[in-house]
Amino acid sequence: MDGPEGVRGKEEAAPGREAGDAEEAGDGFQLVTHGKKKKRASGQEGGGAGSGAVLGAGSVGALTKDKGAAPGTKPKVPFHDPSIPRPQDVYKIRVDNYKPFEHVWLERSEDGTRPVHPLEKLPVEHFVDRNVPECEPVKPADIEDTPFTLVEDHKGLMELAKKLKSVTEFAVDLEHNQYRSFQGLTCLMQISTRREDFIVDTLKLRIYIGLYLQEPFKDPTKRKVMHGVDRDIMWLQRDFHIYVCNLFDTGQASRVLQMERNSLEHLLLHFCGVTAKKEYQNADWRSRPLPEEMIKYAREDTHYLLYIYDLMKQRLQRESTPENDLLLEVHKRSNEICLQFYEKELLTDTSYLHIYGLQEHELNAKQLAVVAALHGWRDRIARQEDESTGYVLPNKALIEIAKQMPTDNGHLKRIVKSKYPFVESSLDEIIYTIWNALEYSYAFEGIAEQLKKERLEQLALKSVPASDETTILDAESDRSNIDPACQSSVAPSSTANVNVASDGGAGFMNETALISSIHLEDNTQTISSTKIFETLPGLTRPINKDALSNNRYQQATEELKRPTLGALGNSAPGRQTENFGGFSKEKICVLLFSFRVGAMWTTLDLLCFLTSSSLVG
Ligand code: AMP
Ligand code: ZN
Ligand code: MN
Repeated sequence: MDGPEGVRGKEEAAPGREAGDAEEAGDGFQLVTHGKKKKRASGQEGGGAGSGAVLGAGSVGALTKDKGAAPGTKPKVPFHDPSIPRPQDVYKIRVDNYKPFEHVWLERSEDGTRPVHPLEKLPVEHFVDRNVPECEPVKPADIEDTPFTLVEDHKGLMELAKKLKSVTEFAVDLEHNQYRSFQGLTCLMQISTRREDFIVDTLKLRIYIGLYLQEPFKDPTKRKVMHGVDRDIMWLQRDFHIYVCNLFDTGQASRVLQMERNSLEHLLLHFCGVTAKKEYQNADWRSRPLPEEMIKYAREDTHYLLYIYDLMKQRLQRESTPENDLLLEVHKRSNEICLQFYEKELLTDTSYLHIYGLQEHELNAKQLAVVAALHGWRDRIARQEDESTGYVLPNKALIEIAKQMPTDNGHLKRIVKSKYPFVESSLDEIIYTIWNALEYSYAFEGIAEQLKKERLEQLALKSVPASDETTILDAESDRSNIDPACQSSVAPSSTANVNVASDGGAGFMNETALISSIHLEDNTQTISSTKIFETLPGLTRPINKDALSNNRYQQATEELKRPTLGALGNSAPGRQTENFGGFSKEKICVLLFSFRVGAMWTTLDLLCFLTSSSLVG
């Protein structure tokens, strides 16, 4: 399965990158090879000739955005173009980054505890089409010869919905931006029918998409063909409240068929003889008007998909045995992906432990305390400003600050080198946060010890494959945590970071890991170590550590750590509201009350008291 965005798995990585084609250009730009010509590959599986030219509607204007590449040099494809106005402002996109996500369009289970996916009522056999077509599948016309519509207004969307009413199958893909918003924004939706391609501007039409397209996506009589769909399913739910029934995921089919590689790129080459231009995969899809090259790239992602489906279905049927129904297996897997629910990533008291790369550094208690505090600060800013945590302060920089523990603005400035606007405008606040963290760093001694132990264990086990749990921990890196200043050096490595083994489909680290990390507390209610530093700026009385036994400190840190395990076990909506991060409501009330009345106790005194007092019972 795919997961917190960030980065594409090896299998799916743009070939240019893997081949070391990308060069660092700084400022979020990446140099990539441009304008590869499509060619026919010998030995391709799909044999059908083009179905004859269809007159191209070609409503795409001359939108090419020239980034000013000198002749002979590689043009730049920025994953972040800072000159693009924020769609949140342009299209008034207001997103709640705090409250748990609600599946408002779905019915709830009888006991009211969970939403019911429309697919739950439909048996999977329902979707398996066992008809063997009378003739060989026919390859679609070339992109240039296919009618294309850019759907940018209400009317266009209505017309698209009408067209989808008349078809029984369509291919879908989404383009997304995760760098300039907290949860990510779906920027485009590509749809291809057997005869036409559409690209919907999902930024501009965001609030109407669900209204018009929910129905065809949900309709079990219409087959949706998509590739590597884990993240897309989440994005559809999150941005448009769209739920998918009757999906055929060509990424899963590729796995079931045990193809050499599972990327769409590979399928395009293998089945259609088309060499996809993957350099736009990670382009800044917020760009408007859409450059022509990007439109072309986006269309390629769905244009051939129904044909690939035909060929894969044939092969699945051919290779099935009475004991092993491969087509059914693909549908089962596709259904499972559809049945997942999007959940919002919420701050927990141990989220900071999931920062990718943390384990690699042997941080002491003080440094760890700073990591936790900076992580809390970053999370708050990112949610409030609707920016990604990576844009506010990338992991690498966060860890570097924690390692150096600057206690004055000058030192901090030297570390961050004016690269991060929100850091730049909050230098005082960050320094204050660091001071505060250092004050309470002893609370992190137990965790620092634990991490050190785990690190040593991991080193010892290096040759042994990671267990699921370790994978999730490792994979729990920040979505979108890319440092634009070192994109080309970071992106490929973080590709490896987030990708869970060879998952593939969309190739991203698994969304389940993302979901696992999602705690359902409203983060304003979460009692967290990070929050403690943040919300109690006046609390500077040093705790009398000696007055408490080591054991009690141990308990306190254990308590802080406990939710990690909970976080790794998937959490269901509503379940955790009773127990915020391992603390009972009573404890929280006492804590909050004590803070409010300005009791003389420090947070840690309270934690120790609560974990050992009768309240714990
Ligand atoms: P795709 O399914 O290949 O069209 O990818 C969908 C979205 O995933 C893209 O619009 C990007 O936002 C994101 N994405 C794809 N590949 C990468 C990559 N290598 N690194 C980061 N993001 C990617
Ligand atoms: Zn996709
Ligand atoms: Mn795509």
